[in-house]
Amino acid sequence: MHQKPDGDAMGSTLGLFHFLIQFGHDVKVISPTNWAAFLNWMPACSGVLDFEKETSKSNEFIHNADWIFCLDFNTLSRTKKMEPELIKSNAIKILIDHHQQPQVEMFAYGVSDTTKSSTAEMVYDFIMASGFGDKINDDIAQCLYAGVMTDTGSFRFPSTSADVHSMVSDFIKRGLQHSIIHQNLFDNFTENRLRFIGNVLLNRMKLYYEYNTALISIPQADLIKYDIKTGDTEGLVNYPLSIEGIKLAAIIIDRGDERKMSFRSKGSFDVNTFARNYFEGGGHFNAAGGQSKEPLDEVVSKFAKAITENKDQLSTYKF
Ligand code: 5GP
Ligand code: MN
Repeated sequence: MHQKPDGDAMGSTLGLFHFLIQFGHDVKVISPTNWAAFLNWMPACSGVLDFEKETSKSNEFIHNADWIFCLDFNTLSRTKKMEPELIKSNAIKILIDHHQQPQVEMFAYGVSDTTKSSTAEMVYDFIMASGFGDKINDDIAQCLYAGVMTDTGSFRFPSTSADVHSMVSDFIKRGLQHSIIHQNLFDNFTENRLRFIGNVLLNRMKLYYEYNTALISIPQADLIKYDIKTGDTEGLVNYPLSIEGIKLAAIIIDRGDERKMSFRSKGSFDVNTFARNYFEGGGHFNAAGGQSKEPLDEVVSKFAKAITENKDQLSTYKF
C-alpha cells in the first residue's frame, strides 16, 4: 500500500490478505509508514508491519517474497523509503490500482483502471473473477467495505457505480454490519481533533471567490498545540467544498519535514494535472495530492499564483 495509507489502501490490502491466507499462502502486509489510529479496528491490522519502524523485518519479507501485490498506488515513489527495496526485489510484482498514469514498467502483471471507485472494489472483482467468491468472509467484507466507503466519500462521488452498490449489496447479504464500520471510522476521534477543526475553519481558511477556490493552510504549531496525529487531518480538505460555488479546495499542511498538500475539485477542473504541474504530485481527476520542501508561506504564494494561471478553467463553472 502507499505511504500514510488511507481507508482504501489499508482496506484493500487487508481484504486481499484475508483472501490469500485461505489458500495457505504465507502473506505479510507492509505499510511504508505509520497510519491513522482509526484504521486499527480492521481485522488483522495489528499484524501489519510499519516499514519505517520495522525496517529489517520488512526487508526480510520483501527479499524472500515470490510475489508482491502493490495496491492503491502506481508509482513506487509512493512507498517512500521502501522504493529502493522494491526495485531490488526479484519478486513478481502485481499492480492493482485506480490512479492515473501507472509506472507500468515496474510491474509484471496488473490492473490499472481509473474508472474504478476504489482499489477495494478491484480486489472484490479480482476475487470474483478467480472463481472463489465463496471465500468472501466477514473479515474481507469489512475491509473492502471500509475501502470503498472512504474512497467514494460515503458513496457520493461520481465513481460510485451500480457495480459498487451491487458489491455492497452482496456484502450485506453475507451479513456485513455496515453501520458499525461507519462508527469505527468516523466516531472514534479525540475532543482535541474537533477543536482543531474549529480553529482551522475559523482561522486557517482563505477564500478566493474570483477563482471559485478555497485554501486551508496549517502551520506546524497548530498540529503540536492540538496534538494532531497521522490521519486526524484526513477529510478536512472537503469542508470548503460545501460553500456554494467553490470548485477547487486545497489544503497545505506543514508537517515539519515537508509541506503536504491535498486537492479536491468538483466538475471539470483536473487536480491530477494541477498537482503534477505545480506540486510534484498526482492522483485522480477530482482528488489529488502533492508535496513541497519549501516553507509554508512560499507554498501558499505558489498556490495563489498557480490559480491565477488557471483562471480560465477555474472561473468558468462547469459540472
Ligand atoms: P489525499 O489528498 O487524500 O492524500 O490523496 C488524494 C489522492 O491523490 C489519493 O488517491 C492519493 O493516492 C493521491 N496522492 C496524494 N498525494 C500524492 C502525491 O504526492 N503524489 C501522487 N502521485 N499522488 C498523490
Ligand atoms: Mn484508493
